[in-house]
Amino acid sequence: MYMTTFANLFEKKILDREDIIMMLKAEGKERLFLFERALQVKLKEVGNKVYFRGLVEFSNICSKDCFYCGIRNSNNNVTRYYLTDDEILNAAKFCYENNYGSIVLQSGENCTTVFADRIENLLRKIKELSNNQLGITLSVGEQSEEVYRRWFNAGAHRYLLRIETTNRELYKKIHPEDHSFDERLRCIKSLQDIGYQTGTGVMIGLPFQTIEDLADDLLYMKQINIDMVGMGPYIEHTETPLYKYRDRLWSLNSRFDMSLKMIALLRILMKDINIAAATALQAIDPMGREKGVKVGANIIMPNITPGRYRNDYHLYQNKPCVDEEPENCVKCLDARIALSDSEIGYGEWGDSHHFFKRKES
Ligand code: SF4
Repeated sequence: MYMTTFANLFEKKILDREDIIMMLKAEGKERLFLFERALQVKLKEVGNKVYFRGLVEFSNICSKDCFYCGIRNSNNNVTRYYLTDDEILNAAKFCYENNYGSIVLQSGENCTTVFADRIENLLRKIKELSNNQLGITLSVGEQSEEVYRRWFNAGAHRYLLRIETTNRELYKKIHPEDHSFDERLRCIKSLQDIGYQTGTGVMIGLPFQTIEDLADDLLYMKQINIDMVGMGPYIEHTETPLYKYRDRLWSLNSRFDMSLKMIALLRILMKDINIAAATALQAIDPMGREKGVKVGANIIMPNITPGRYRNDYHLYQNKPCVDEEPENCVKCLDARIALSDSEIGYGEWGDSHHFFKRKES
């Protein structure tokens, strides 16, 4: 394709599926053009600030069995852990004192009443210890509407629930039969209705996945009017059923590059949402997250889980920074963000602009 034809695509008001597929296949100058345009859109629409969400992986106990995940219920080679309330509250205090602005509480899925009560209690305590100043995102899977509502009322205002792929057939291939695609969609809808800033995301480079599927994922996120997205490359884990398909995978570099293109295109399609530079990018390239920031991402989730637990929260392999303690991450991130010509929005929530427009409409 000639460069001029490619550049003309960006003048279109609405990009259709074919345009998106073409852009995801861009190489050479066209690929760089895509990245440059995405950065321009980001700077114009949401600015050059990167917002931190301190990530606490507070438990790797999960009732589900997703075929791609290293901490799936059936994997008996994992040391299961649960942070104590004090450990979680200390992590929240660390976030607050280091001006991170927001915290993310993430764990495997657990739908018991004890779990729901515990989270509700923790949310109130985190609000209290931070004088209501710490923003809170939850990422603890599918729950009933009532539980989502209780947590919202207790202070959580963002929720991340990744769909992983919007192709129903592919979803079935990467999950056991009792994991329902429709239930996942119901949960996302329910989170939006309750009033959460709602996030989702997909894996990029799954076995059986095509570029067309990825284009559909982008269009789907636009169609459901999502406020935030966290997406990154699929990285195989030896102790999972999907590992047997490793021969069919794109190279790690291709998955990485496609993830950058997905971020760039999403920024162009949904100009004012929040996009996280996923840690999985860094698992492939030490500067992966910073590269994500340069093509459209504006959120980074530094891991503040106490170091001794990090080795047991492996959704995928080669996870970065598993030997670090939270204190070591602060300076490292400052330097890294500066390298990507961005500024850190210390002490700010950095909420999704899209969310407020969605509420108004
Ligand atoms: S992806 Fe999430 S829900 Fe699925 S097994 Fe892993 S932790 Fe559990």
